[in-house]
Amino acid sequence: MNKTSMQLQPQRAAVIGAGIAGAACAVSLQRAGMQVTVFDKSRGVGGRMSTRRASWTDVSGAEQTSEFDHGTQHFAAKHPRFLSVLKRAISVGCVAEWQPQVHAVWPGATAINSFVAVPHMPALTRHLLAGLPMHMGEQVQRLQRTADGWHLVVQGGETVGPFDHVMLALPPAQAAVLLAGHHDDWANNLTAVPMQACWTLMAITQDLDWPWDACEPANGPLAWVARNDRKPGREVPLGHASWVAHASADWSVAHLEDDSSAVLQALKAALARELPGCEKSGAQINWLHSSAHRWRYAQPTLLSRDECWWDATQNLGVCGDFMGAGNVEAAWRSGDELADTIAALMDDEADTRKVQDTASA
Ligand SMILES: Cc1cc2nc3c(=O)[nH]c(=O)nc-3n(C[C@H](O)[C@H](O)[C@H](O)COP(=O)(O)OP(=O)(O)OC[C@H]3O[C@@H](n4cnc5c(N)ncnc54)[C@H](O)[C@@H]3O)c2cc1C
Repeated sequence: MNKTSMQLQPQRAAVIGAGIAGAACAVSLQRAGMQVTVFDKSRGVGGRMSTRRASWTDVSGAEQTSEFDHGTQHFAAKHPRFLSVLKRAISVGCVAEWQPQVHAVWPGATAINSFVAVPHMPALTRHLLAGLPMHMGEQVQRLQRTADGWHLVVQGGETVGPFDHVMLALPPAQAAVLLAGHHDDWANNLTAVPMQACWTLMAITQDLDWPWDACEPANGPLAWVARNDRKPGREVPLGHASWVAHASADWSVAHLEDDSSAVLQALKAALARELPGCEKSGAQINWLHSSAHRWRYAQPTLLSRDECWWDATQNLGVCGDFMGAGNVEAAWRSGDELADTIAALMDDEADTRKVQDTASA
């Protein structure tokens, strides 16, 4: 092999985690000329930008299926690069602006500017990752580094590799497991990142006289209530309403190990108290579907000031929402920044090689 063909070999990168951070990192690395493969333990992409599906029977007795955004509700975007990604996503119909009327501090109302993926939250990540090779439903259990590069040991014991670079786009605790023995200082820092828990109620009722798209209750178990069917691209059959309610972090922690049926009853009672139209008219709530989901690790509370970590001696990187504000935009920026850091180093190396080649010619 001559020098030129060696230089043309694309670098192989494994991105572990197909949430928004992993998607941002993977597409930018691919754009930089790398051969990228994405791994995720779930069957679907999106991570905590996720959706739950439920079957239920409507008031006329017909079988229905609905989806609930049970993780991320909506997201903000300030960074020009993230905004331009969203602009493209809007143009192909997988993201929409959402300006909900939010009942924040009763009786005042506020309007906020934000975005949602359409028709459900994983759609943005799926759009970004389109065309990239992906190993879904494969939990990476261990990383091995040998002379030819990185190998990933996946659930079942199979080994995949080699890769020149490995990027971890995982929540802190999961990243720490894979970093142990390779970067113990990072692993220790990540093990110490506290994560908020969140109990989530998903429900379908008859349509109720509720003027808001969302509300942020000041007291009680709930911190957020949204009419899921009033978000762009979501709907329920006429005469019905679809709800997602998040318990506050304090309440969720206090009830973390409670039986889920007891939690469900408590959250339904709390949601009923947030529906003043219903209270005033004395209307009974007809619960056509209700379920509760426990997020043990919803959002990080202690955040790194760095945007990403990259160790050029091992070709090992880390990104995720704990690098920044602990939300969707922070996760996207961290993944994009990690890819940028590597691409810039690759450019520097290519320039150095060119200078050396010219000097030796
Ligand atoms: C209830 C809730 C409400 C939220 N509300 C909002 C909101 O309104 N606005 C907002 O901006 N943010 C919100 N967030 C936060 C937001 O969802 C996250 O900040 C963001 O989605 C994190 O993206 P990420 O790519 O860093 O991680 P994740 O989305 O967690 O992606 C990590 C991926 O790694 C995979 N994985 C983990 N371990 C392994 C392994 N060993 N091998 C292979 N794959 C693995 C997981 O399956 C997952 O797909 C909310 C989160 C929750 C849970």
